[in-house]
Amino acid sequence: MWPHVDLDYRRYIDVLCLTFDCAVINCREPEGHGMAKTRSEIMRSVRRKDTGPELVVRRLLHHLGLRFRLHRKDLPGTPDVVLPRHRTVLFVHGCYWHRHPGCPFSTDPKTNKAFWEAKFAANAERDARKTKELEALGWRVLVVWSCETRDLDRLAARLESKFRVTRTDVRDASNSRR
Ligand SMILES: [Zn+2]
Repeated sequence: MWPHVDLDYRRYIDVLCLTFDCAVINCREPEGHGMAKTRSEIMRSVRRKDTGPELVVRRLLHHLGLRFRLHRKDLPGTPDVVLPRHRTVLFVHGCYWHRHPGCPFSTDPKTNKAFWEAKFAANAERDARKTKELEALGWRVLVVWSCETRDLDRLAARLESKFRVTRTDVRDASNSRR
């Protein structure tokens, strides 16, 4: 049932499941999600730049005909995606680490509660501070939560409304080029 973690070891650690960075602690569906990971594996993968959900968002933006740049280090918080024409930056946040309010993937840690809560509070504080800094520089700040990348139609509709583009326009644009 827990293909990547041996049974004895399992008693001493929280096993986290990683699907689209959902990182649900003691997730009951590691097989359905395809992988179960130890906390250290999760931490490693969280530090990775190109997470699954981020790639999904980038593909979607591209599909919508929006052009962007990645990880501009000269901007506060190194936004995941920067759309200079729309003066907009976009962060793709993991629901667990950034505490998506009311989200089923934003579960409470079962052990070391105080430690994790301090970490979550620091994340939230940093997110708010970077957002303020970016807005002070005239940038619009959008957040896409990783759970949103599970429903692409809905996410596309949301992004379309933010950038006032439609997929019909995109299709027309590609037709007229022929
Ligand atoms: Zn979420």
